[in-house]
Amino acid sequence: MSLEEAQRLILERAHLLETERVALAEAAGRVLAEPATARVDLPPFDSSAMDGFAVRSADTPGRLPVSERIPAGRPASRSLEPGEAMGIATGGVVPGGADAVIPLEDVVDHGNEIEIAEVVSAGAHVRPRGGDIREGDVVVDAGEVLGPAQIGALAAAGIADVSSAQRPRAAVLATGTELRRPGEELAPGQIYEANTVLLAAQLRDAGAEVDRLDPVADDPDVHRSALERGLSADVVVTSGGVSVGPHDLVRSVGADLGVEEVFWGVAVKPGKPLWFGVRGSTLVFGLPGNPVSSLVSFELFVRPAVLALQGVREPLPRFQPGRLVRAVKPNPARTELARARSSVSDGAVGLEVVTGQESHMIARAAGADVLVLIPPGEEELPPGTAVSYLRLA
Ligand code: AMP
Ligand code: MG
Repeated sequence: MSLEEAQRLILERAHLLETERVALAEAAGRVLAEPATARVDLPPFDSSAMDGFAVRSADTPGRLPVSERIPAGRPASRSLEPGEAMGIATGGVVPGGADAVIPLEDVVDHGNEIEIAEVVSAGAHVRPRGGDIREGDVVVDAGEVLGPAQIGALAAAGIADVSSAQRPRAAVLATGTELRRPGEELAPGQIYEANTVLLAAQLRDAGAEVDRLDPVADDPDVHRSALERGLSADVVVTSGGVSVGPHDLVRSVGADLGVEEVFWGVAVKPGKPLWFGVRGSTLVFGLPGNPVSSLVSFELFVRPAVLALQGVREPLPRFQPGRLVRAVKPNPARTELARARSSVSDGAVGLEVVTGQESHMIARAAGADVLVLIPPGEEELPPGTAVSYLRLA
C-alpha cells in the first residue's frame, strides 16, 4: 500500500471529537471548532498612533492653542474646535473634529500653544476605528490551530473563550521482553526502552493527553490486559511486535480484543510493517519497534490522525521544497524518509542526509531536523536534486 492510500484510510476514520468551551488563556495549541468573530471593531474608536497633538489638517501649518490633554483610556470632554489642538497619548481617542495627529517631536511646544511648521495631512497618525477588523468579522476560522498571534487577536477582539474539540486521549504501549527503563541496569540481551517517551512527546506536541502504559513483555496475556486498558482512549499507539516473528503479538491480540484491521504494511522506509485498525471510534496504530521507525511512522500516520480528531483543516504533513546537498541512492520499491539536516544557503534550503540511516539508529536521527522524502527509484539522485522535506517537531 502506498503512503497516500494509507493516510487516506486513516483520515477516513478520524472524526472530530466532541467540543468544549476553553478559556482563552488555556487555549494555546487548541483547534477552533467554529469561527471566532470579533465582538467589537478593532480598534474600537479612532485612536492616536503617536504621543502628540490632535489637530485639523486644515489648520496646519500654524500656531494653535492647546485646550486639553487626552490620556489613553479617557476621551476628551468635547470635540475639537477649528483653530485649536489637544494633546493626545498613543492609544488616546482622537476627538471629534480632529482628523490628524502630529507627533510631539514635530512641533515646537510653548506649553499652552504649539507651533506646527509643515502641513499635516488628513489621517496622519490616526488608527481608524475598525482598521484591523470589524465587529462580526471572522478573527480566526474553524480548523485553525491557536498560536500566540491567534490568541492575541482573539483577546484584542474581545473573545474570552472558544469552542474547541476535546484533546484526544492517547495511550502509548511499548512491547518487547528485552526492554528496560533508562536508569535500570541492563542484563545481557536487554536494551533501553525509548519509544514510550519518544511517542508521548510527539503525541503531546500534536495536542493529545497521554497515558503512558508500562511496557509489556512478549506474552499474549500481558499484551491483552495492557491493550484492553489502552483501548478506552481515543488513540492507541503501540510499538514493536507487528512484524512476522513468532513473538510479534500485537495484531493477534488486537484481533482478539475486537480491533478491526484496516491495513498492515505500507511501502515506506522506515515503517513498513505499520498496522492500523479501529475498535469503535478508537484508532489503533501498531508501530514497528525500531525507534526511528516509530518516530517517522508517527509523523506520517499518527500525527495527521490526532490533528484530524481535533478538526485541523489540513492534517497531513506539509512537505516543502529543498535540494539534496549530497548524492542519495533511493530504495527501489519504497518511499524513503531519510533523516537529514537542513541549512539555508543562497536563499535555498539544502538537505544533508545524516550518516547512519538504519532504523535502529535513533542517536543518529537525533542529529537531524528534517525528514527528506526520497521516492522509490533505481537511479542515484545527484547533489542539487529537488526533493521535498518535512520539518521535525
Ligand atoms: P520489533 O518491531 O518488536 O520487532 O522490534 C524491532 C527492534 O526495535 C528490535 O531490535 C527491538 O529490540 C527494538 N525495540 C522495540 N521496541 C523498542 C523500544 N520501545 N525502545 C527501543 N527499542 C525497541
Ligand atoms: Mg519486539
